[in-house]
Amino acid sequence: MGAREKEQRVLQGLRADFQLRVEETLRIARQSDVDMLAYCGVRTPEEQARLYRRSRTTAEIEAKMQSLRDRGYPRLADIVREVGPQYGRLGAHVTAAAPGESWHQFGLAVDCVPLQGGKALWSTEEPEWEIYGEAASYVGLRWAGMWTTFPEYPHIQRYPEASPLSHWRSEIDLLRNLIRKGQS
Ligand SMILES: [Zn+2]
Repeated sequence: MGAREKEQRVLQGLRADFQLRVEETLRIARQSDVDMLAYCGVRTPEEQARLYRRSRTTAEIEAKMQSLRDRGYPRLADIVREVGPQYGRLGAHVTAAAPGESWHQFGLAVDCVPLQGGKALWSTEEPEWEIYGEAASYVGLRWAGMWTTFPEYPHIQRYPEASPLSHWRSEIDLLRNLIRKGQS
């Protein structure tokens, strides 16, 4: 499957209202000759748990599960436990977010990268990123490239809170909005 075909799947997995805004963002960027490719949309809580575990020790993972329970999210802690040990390399974290802590689990975040001649421009020095960020703000989305702690240039999301845990009122509310396997 080509990158553009995959992009269609990524976009179609997003929440409908957010998808429209993302498509508008990409269209506005393209008007400034910035060609963005959407490459990551929905990530299920189980996928997020696996990514989270990959680079962490058992002690770190236990501490995270305890902290989720202490904050009133026992079901999220269960997801971290249920996916079991993961193969990976300690230290180099793929993600800072446990399941439920990333907007990707709600279909309310997407990651895009600028393309030039079909090649992805990953360097954050590229001017394309700023234009992408401006286009996102223009349609009311938040660009994580301007976050002071852990800026993430590819990431745009619907709501201002870095963590969804501070957005939903309770774990029930949060679970209701999670996207599970095969659903969008
Ligand atoms: Zn992201």
